[in-house]
Amino acid sequence: MKRRDFISNSAGRSAVVLTNPSAIVTTQIKKPPIRVAHLTDIHIKPGKDIEASVAKAMHHAQILVPEIDFIINGGDSIWDSLEADKEKTQIQWDLFTSMLKKEISLPVYHCIGNHDIWGWFIKENKPENERQYGKVWVVETLQMKNRYFSFSKDKWHFIILDSTQLNPAGGYIGKIDEEQLVWLQTELALVPKENFICIVSHIPILSICAGLFFDKTEANGDLKIQRNLMHSDFFALKKIFNNYPNIKVCISGHIHLQDELNYLGIRYYCNGAVSGNWWKGSFQEFAPAYAMLEFYPDGTSKRYMQNY
Ligand SMILES: [Zn+2]
Repeated sequence: MKRRDFISNSAGRSAVVLTNPSAIVTTQIKKPPIRVAHLTDIHIKPGKDIEASVAKAMHHAQILVPEIDFIINGGDSIWDSLEADKEKTQIQWDLFTSMLKKEISLPVYHCIGNHDIWGWFIKENKPENERQYGKVWVVETLQMKNRYFSFSKDKWHFIILDSTQLNPAGGYIGKIDEEQLVWLQTELALVPKENFICIVSHIPILSICAGLFFDKTEANGDLKIQRNLMHSDFFALKKIFNNYPNIKVCISGHIHLQDELNYLGIRYYCNGAVSGNWWKGSFQEFAPAYAMLEFYPDGTSKRYMQNY
């Protein structure tokens, strides 16, 4: 249909309504969805091109897409502080916070990514006794209520998890710790049944991307999903989630790939990376992007990936 035909048709229809007083049309005013920009894996570090691109992505989400209620930062805001010394970590956070201040006036809710944690992988003179060691630095800098927390908007309750735990044997594991698990269970029980829940984690709770990250199978043909690429406590979480049919959405980042799964009534969206392949173009098939999410009052949701 041409645009002109559409205009004349819709004009014709409304004329019928107006000239027929017996047909009282009750127009249901649909409540607009909650609109959220989910920017994840920004990985900022000093550099003209990277800084310009981060500004462009933030500007795009803030200005070019109208009617956004808030922004969720999915974590890995900075290049890396797991192995960086104090000075380099400070430079990265200063850059990130000044960029946020300059480009974003909407409320931003932050989630901790593995690369936002300070010092875990420093080999010599590990700053374990420093006050800002581990997750303290990121929580303080981004003025987070806690390393995990929640908030509500209309009929939706958003739960932000801290999904990176230190593996004493080396590296890190995607999961929530005991303390956080107790909190999560209490939190889920408190949400009224008629409201809906979206869970945000940096590492995906469930994702096929996690198995596609290395772009190949094991030698024997198995597809491997590493415990630092997807929540290793998925089965435990699934058992809990099965008790709450009002959990509708889980969003994540970390993998720099994008997928959308519908499993047991929950939509799992893994939302790529603002940095693409660590600021070297696309990662596999996925160009730098962020997600626009819509949360409807009936518990449904939609995701659109935005190249910026
Ligand atoms: Zn990550």
